[in-house]
Amino acid sequence: MRLETTYGLGDIVYAAQPTSREERHSCRPCGGEGKIKALDDSVQSCSTCYGRQYTVTHTSIYKTMALTIGEVRVQRRNTEQENVYMCVETGIGSGRLWKEEKLHESRGQAEIDAAHQLVEQEAQKQRRREAEVAEAEELVENLAKHEQASS
Ligand SMILES: [Zn+2]
Repeated sequence: MRLETTYGLGDIVYAAQPTSREERHSCRPCGGEGKIKALDDSVQSCSTCYGRQYTVTHTSIYKTMALTIGEVRVQRRNTEQENVYMCVETGIGSGRLWKEEKLHESRGQAEIDAAHQLVEQEAQKQRRREAEVAEAEELVENLAKHEQASS
């Protein structure tokens, strides 16, 4: 039996990798001074930036990375076959296992995959927020019922 894999040893492939971008912003409440003047004219360390003069935001982004196939694992059972790869850059033998669908022949395809993953991640965040809102609404409703019952 001959087992087919899309990629072979030494092939260069591309993958989308989640990462976060850190951005510093001049602190708004203290105007980037790190200190705030209180009503009694005393000067206090800004409680928003803790005197650092800036705040930090983290934005989820995806970058694409080039990988070199260093190990190919084929798992076959009946008619189902799954190809998994290990790459030089992320560890051979031990390290990250890459499913075939996560690897792409061109950087452009990896970028499209990255964009899809980012959309999916934002959609998940949105669903979590919606679930939190629903939970809070239920809590309010229950409290209102309880209040009605006891009065
Ligand atoms: Zn500040």
